[in-house]
Amino acid sequence: MFRIDSFRNRLLILFAGMSFILGLCITLYIGKTASVQMSKSSGQTLYIAAKSISNTLANSLTEREREMVLLSQSPFFAEADFQNPRVQQQLDQVKTSYKYYAWIGIADPDGQVAVAADHLLQGADVSERPWFIHGSKQVYLGDVHKAVLLAKKIKAINPNEPMRFIDFATPIYDPYTKKLKGVLAAHADWSWASHVLSSSLSENAAQRGIEVFIVNQQGEILYPFKSIGQVQPPVSKKHKANYFVDNWSEDQQYLTTDVPVLSQTQMNLGWHVIIRQPMSIALAEVKSLQHKILAIGFILSLLLLLMTYKLANRFSRPIETLAQSAHAVEKGQEDIRFATQTSIREIKGLSHSLQSMTDTLLTQKHQLLDANATLEQKVAERTHELQVANVELAHIARYDALTGLHNRRAFNDYLSYLFTQMSRTEQTYAVLLMDIDFFKKVNDSFGHEVGDQVLQRVAEILPTTLRITDFVARLGGEEFIALLPATTLEGAMHLAEKIRSAIEQESIIDNHPVSLSIGVSLAQVDDADMNDAIRRADQCLYRAKQQGRNRVISLITDATDCLA
Ligand code: GH3
Ligand code: MG
Ligand code: MG
Repeated sequence: MFRIDSFRNRLLILFAGMSFILGLCITLYIGKTASVQMSKSSGQTLYIAAKSISNTLANSLTEREREMVLLSQSPFFAEADFQNPRVQQQLDQVKTSYKYYAWIGIADPDGQVAVAADHLLQGADVSERPWFIHGSKQVYLGDVHKAVLLAKKIKAINPNEPMRFIDFATPIYDPYTKKLKGVLAAHADWSWASHVLSSSLSENAAQRGIEVFIVNQQGEILYPFKSIGQVQPPVSKKHKANYFVDNWSEDQQYLTTDVPVLSQTQMNLGWHVIIRQPMSIALAEVKSLQHKILAIGFILSLLLLLMTYKLANRFSRPIETLAQSAHAVEKGQEDIRFATQTSIREIKGLSHSLQSMTDTLLTQKHQLLDANATLEQKVAERTHELQVANVELAHIARYDALTGLHNRRAFNDYLSYLFTQMSRTEQTYAVLLMDIDFFKKVNDSFGHEVGDQVLQRVAEILPTTLRITDFVARLGGEEFIALLPATTLEGAMHLAEKIRSAIEQESIIDNHPVSLSIGVSLAQVDDADMNDAIRRADQCLYRAKQQGRNRVISLITDATDCLA
């Protein structure tokens, strides 16, 4: 997806926009310059062509006039009689020498054609013709006009157009009397102009839209015939420039040049050679140039875009690589290297900074993890120690430290349990209350340590004589107690006797008797509280001590006393 917030895409848009604007500016500038240059060069070309045509026309006119003047001044023409056949011959020759001479002849001072090539119009009255009137006084050049008398007599050179002539006339004077002897005149066919033009213009002029006009002093078109009345040349101004742009009263612009025909003749006809070319054709090359520039510009823009893409990649790829590495670090990957293949100093710097930052963070993370782990281990150790201590505490709370038997607290709990149980099930239990006889003496005679050993030994023997369901505890000092569930008084008596006998026979201290006195009682369903049975056992124990010790006393043996 094309994302505008991407560094690469922004670079791309920036460069593409810049290259587009640059290309546009260059194309417009070159187009403008080229069109000015092109107008200049085309205008100059038109001007040169017009100048050339104008010169050719002028030269031709000058030449024709000089020919006529030279002929009029030749001694033969001045001296000979016009009826002389050689005059006729001479005129024929001149006419043949130049194909555009439609007529050449001499009129006598009265205005009658005395002699003419091919005898054309011989004897005709030309006294009213301008060429005769002016030509009898001076060298005369007559502007283009339609044929008057000759039209029906000769064949036109260009049959598609009406016959038109320009007139050359010059007086012939008698060398001796200096009087007018006649007027030599020639009518040149106007199709001469098209000959001059066709020889002056390049072949593809028509294809290039170039049109040439010859215009008279009044601005009327003399040539070409088809344009007479159709085309309106711009009013001739004294243009300083060699060419100009004008619309010729039409709906398109023409590159135009206007050059006067400056002949060396006695009279100046005031002709102009005007050439025009449609601007669209004159600038066609500019258009094609513009198209080429546009095409080249487009290709260059594409190349620039490609380069920009590569450049943008070069700039953005290292940053993207860094971002990917940073992302991997974020995901928890640790073996990440912020390596970028770039020669850009700032990006290299960024890469190094990121690397060292990551390294530092990872080191700190590991330190933190280690610290955490140590802490957890310590907590586990402490918890374990605490648990052990708790177990010990629980043990200490319920067991006697010296003998390992249950203590008074544990005994009370069990007694409470049995008593409650009995009230529900009426299941009685027996109590054996045991006290070592003359224990003070043991301590006194053998020391406290031996006393302790005696206590421990007694505590070892007691459980061996009891059943697994029986419970034995040290109540304190040298006093022990056993609770015998589901036991009759007889059964309890029997067991007490077994205990007493076992201790007596054990010889715990060498050569010194160690014995037990035992009071036996049975818990009653109607006992007020759980200590009633204990009290009864204590009574029996008291009786046993009284009766000499090392004996078992119960309700059976001394019911009255024990109950008291
Ligand atoms: P009797 O036959 O009437 O029971 O006489 P006795 O000496 O056994 O009884 P007495 O109550 O006069 O003496 C008990 C002695 O037991 C006193 C005390 O120093 C001793 N004793 C109590 N607890 C311990 C103990 O844990 N270790 C040792 N070594 N002696 C203890
Ligand atoms: Mg005692
Ligand atoms: Mg005692």
